[in-house]
Amino acid sequence: MEYASPRSLDEAIGLLSQAGVDARPMAGGTDLLVQLRTGARRPELLVDLKQIPGLCGIDCGSQGFRIGAAVSGAEIGECLPLREAWPGVVEAAELIGSTQIQGRASLGGNLCNASPAADSVPALIAAGAVCTLIGPAGRREVPVDDIVRGPGETALGEAEIIVDFRLPRPQDGTGDAYQRMIPRTEMDIAIVGAGVSVRVAESGECLACRVALGAVAARPIRVDEAAAALMGRRPDSEALEELAARASAAADPIDDKRGTRAYRTRVAGVLARRAAEEALRRAGDRWAARSQSS
Ligand SMILES: Cc1cc2nc3c(=O)[nH]c(=O)nc-3n(C[C@H](O)[C@H](O)[C@H](O)COP(=O)(O)OP(=O)(O)OC[C@H]3O[C@@H](n4cnc5c(N)ncnc54)[C@H](O)[C@@H]3O)c2cc1C
Repeated sequence: MEYASPRSLDEAIGLLSQAGVDARPMAGGTDLLVQLRTGARRPELLVDLKQIPGLCGIDCGSQGFRIGAAVSGAEIGECLPLREAWPGVVEAAELIGSTQIQGRASLGGNLCNASPAADSVPALIAAGAVCTLIGPAGRREVPVDDIVRGPGETALGEAEIIVDFRLPRPQDGTGDAYQRMIPRTEMDIAIVGAGVSVRVAESGECLACRVALGAVAARPIRVDEAAAALMGRRPDSEALEELAARASAAADPIDDKRGTRAYRTRVAGVLARRAAEEALRRAGDRWAARSQSS
């Protein structure tokens, strides 16, 4: 197996698109190296993405955030403006693995590994993140919602890679949160993950809501029916119960040693509700901070 560490996007795409070479991009390697060890993948060429400037670093601009696809969870956790703006996305990224894994694991790898249980994906979908893809045919922007097609399968074309993730500057009254359930207190795979983002008016009325679930279907799913339970209402306990029931109804999980289908289905509702409550609390805190500063 060959290893290459390109310094530019053009060089990386050139290496990945060589005819007759089974080449694979690698960011942190925390999924890929395990797959090489087990023999699940046997690429001829590993193309390391971590030295390409466009895939590294986080830009915090007045319009929004650009998170390089190869940026590690640890770097994301240290970015205070991002944590302040999108705490749900940051808490999801920080849940990935251990301290060692955090030093390597990237959002791009978490998404492109295409596990239904990937932690950052429901949070990114809930936040409305869009990713920039680049490949031999050029550049395109795709919502995170549309990348994963099923376990291990993505919508990326041949030799196409994710360059970065874009998030807007949150509007007033926005809050997001991510909650997951793992069956033990050590590192484990989520049996349910729930990401929610909301935008509420100062009066408390819910103006926008997005709900996404992980680990309860063949791919992370956006559950618009659950989000609709809060829309145009002051989210009281009846509205939140409705959101929970609709999240459970949308779940179509597997039955395995980590949790039964019935249990996962119920937990999907419980976690969607808890994530919504946390997102609403954060949205309320933003309004409170704003009125204090004015
Ligand atoms: C001990 C351990 C604990 C873990 N815990 C968790 C956890 O709690 N939650 C969780 O969600 N995951 C967990 N994982 C899985 C893994 O750490 C994450 O999925 C991580 O985010 C993968 O990122 P990476 O940069 O290491 O990806 P890599 O291993 O480098 O790549 C993963 C896949 O994505 C492709 N890829 C990578 N970057 C790009 C890109 N920019 N464009 C196109 N394709 C790309 C690669 O070709 C590969 O197929 C754990 C793994 C281990 C080993």
